Amino acid sequence: MAKVNCIRCEKTQEEIEGTPYGGKIGQTLQEKICNVCWKEWYEQSIKIINEYHVSLRDQKGRDFLATQMKLFLKLETPEDETAVQVEDTPPKP
Ligand SMILES: [Zn+2]
Repeated sequence: MAKVNCIRCEKTQEEIEGTPYGGKIGQTLQEKICNVCWKEWYEQSIKIINEYHVSLRDQKGRDFLATQMKLFLKLETPEDETAVQVEDTPPKP
């Protein structure tokens, strides 16, 4: 298993198992994110999908989740993207 210098936890750890995403983002994830952080994101993504009722059948839903992933894994700085804080501000019905 190859090791990566993870940009999120700033440790040298095992790279992500398998290929989570195709294309450029998949390559970036494999080069910059460790398997530990990837698993954390996986857990977080389930919370986001449930709390925000994200439909992965829609392009919009997939884009939303991809944006959240980039923010969570520090692949992008939140400038004009809308970040959600799942722990801090859960939506109230
Ligand atoms: Zn990491």
